[in-house]
Parts: sequence; C-alpha cells; structure tokens
Amino acid sequence: MSSTVRMIDIAVNLTDNMFKGIYNGRQYHVADIPAVLARAWSAGVDRIIVTGGSLEESKEALAIAETDGRLFCTVGVHPTRCKEFEESGDPEKHFQTLVSLAKEGIQKGKVVAVGECGLDYDRLQFCPSETQKKYFEKQFELAEAVKLPMFLHMRAAAEDFCNILAQNKHRFSAGVAHSFTGSAEDRDKLLSFDNLFIGVNGCSLKTTENLDVLRGIPIERMMIETDSPYCGIKNTHAGIKFVKSVWPSKKKEKYEPDSTVKDRNEPCIVRQVLEVVAGCKGIGDAEHLSKTLYHNTCRVFFPQDLDTAADALLESGLNIQ
Ligand SMILES: [Zn+2]
Repeated sequence: MSSTVRMIDIAVNLTDNMFKGIYNGRQYHVADIPAVLARAWSAGVDRIIVTGGSLEESKEALAIAETDGRLFCTVGVHPTRCKEFEESGDPEKHFQTLVSLAKEGIQKGKVVAVGECGLDYDRLQFCPSETQKKYFEKQFELAEAVKLPMFLHMRAAAEDFCNILAQNKHRFSAGVAHSFTGSAEDRDKLLSFDNLFIGVNGCSLKTTENLDVLRGIPIERMMIETDSPYCGIKNTHAGIKFVKSVWPSKKKEKYEPDSTVKDRNEPCIVRQVLEVVAGCKGIGDAEHLSKTLYHNTCRVFFPQDLDTAADALLESGLNIQ
C-alpha cells in the first residue's frame, strides 16, 4: 500500500480508561495517548474525531482535542447514557449545558459533530427505549442550534432510528451512522437518506454476512473508523484475510510504549479497516479508496477544508467502486 494514504478515524474513544492504562478498574500501564497518536500519524491518519458520549465525557473529549491540532471531537449523549438527562434533576438545564459546551468547542475549532447519539436496543439494561428515543430526538435540537452534522449510533433499532431520523431530517445538514453492524435491509434504509453516510469498523467486518452487507455500501457513502479501544479486527473475523498492515503487540501486563496492546484497538488500526474494505470490494487501488473516504469525511465534518483540485481528481475516478 502506498505511503501517501491519508485517513481520518472518525470514532476514537480517547476518554476511555484503557488509554489511561486502566482495564476493569485496575492500572496495568501508564497513560499513553501520545504513543497511540504517534503510531496513528505514522500509519497515515491525519485527523481523529474523539467521541463524546455524555456531558462529562464530551468535556473531557474537548480537553483532549485541544492538545493537538489534528484532534477534533463530538459533543452529545450516547443512547445508553440518556438517563443522565433525568438524573441531573433538570433535563433542560443539562441540555443547555451541552449546547454551551458545543458552542465553546466550535469557537475553539474543535467540535465538529453532535453525538454520539441515537438508539441502542442491544443495551436496554442501561437505558430504556422510551428514554433513548426522547433524548435522541432532543439532540436534533442541539444540531439545529449549533448547525453541526450528526455522529449517530444505531444498534438493533433500525426501524425506530429511521423513523426518528425521517421526522427530523430538516434539522441537520448531514450525518454518519457509525459502527454499522446491521443487515442489508438496514443498510438500504440508511442509504435512502441522501445526507447520511455509514461508518465502518472492525465490528462491521466480523462475519461473511457482514462483508456481503459491506459490499453493498457505495464508497461514496462510507467512512472508516476504529471505535477504539473497542471493535478491533480479530484473527477469527472474516475480514482478517484482507489485512496487510500489522503492528507489534504486547499483553497489557507486559506493556511497552512502542507496541500496541493486545485486545486494545487504537487509531493506527483504521488502516486495517481500509485494507479490508478495499479487499472485500475488490478495489486494487487502496490509495484511491482512501481519497474517496477522506473526501466524504471532509464533506460532512470539515467542509472548510475541501480541496477543489482533489474533488476534480475524484470525480474523474468515481466509477471505480
Ligand atoms: Zn457507538
């Protein structure tokens, strides 16, 4: 693969304890975000969107994003965390604090999306569906107030998700349904929204069925991500046969700063996602693929950085899918 590959990892949970060296509440190694980022930049990643999944986490995501010009973040509340609106004692005040945080982050040039928000019916134990739906809808108000695109999470909830999206379509410019693991039918429902992209990571590439569904996502409607420290590509996954780039890895008990940590995903691995997408879709030119995906991501999250020369180049090669 060419070294001129440029990628944006749109989903990195840098606020996760694993990046502080803490696993299941126990410290195994030092906090190591600088080492993780150094590996990402040398793999061809040149921007990262840090995920915010609650008010507190969004504050932390913004603080992390402020440490490097290549880091950006989202502000929003994840479906499994939506009880925090009510538990705060004043849902409207909680929401207004989110709005203020988003405005502050936009002024700093760091907040690029509202999210992650959406519906997750696989994890109703953390938050009932009625609460999830109520505050998913509420976050369109945030997108409308700050005029940002949406970073969306949809798990086992395609019907309700698409209904809510359809009702609020006029309230946001564009969005991505990240960490897509749905069926071909779910994929087509999402693709029917012309302002929606689909985010693909290791969880989207686990089975041969997943790969079949992936083949039906046009690359012009796709973005890539890791969702690290989760959703790595494992040796047992169907996508593994297309992976070309590998990094030395050590168990967390034997941590070394120059190695990745076994079973902890990190943003350099987005390159493997690119390789699996290319292999699976039979695209020989991964560099061309990376340009399209990069362009899609800029269109939605970094519109000020769209390069017209790159656009012209892309349009000349759009029939390569
Ligand atoms: Zn998610």
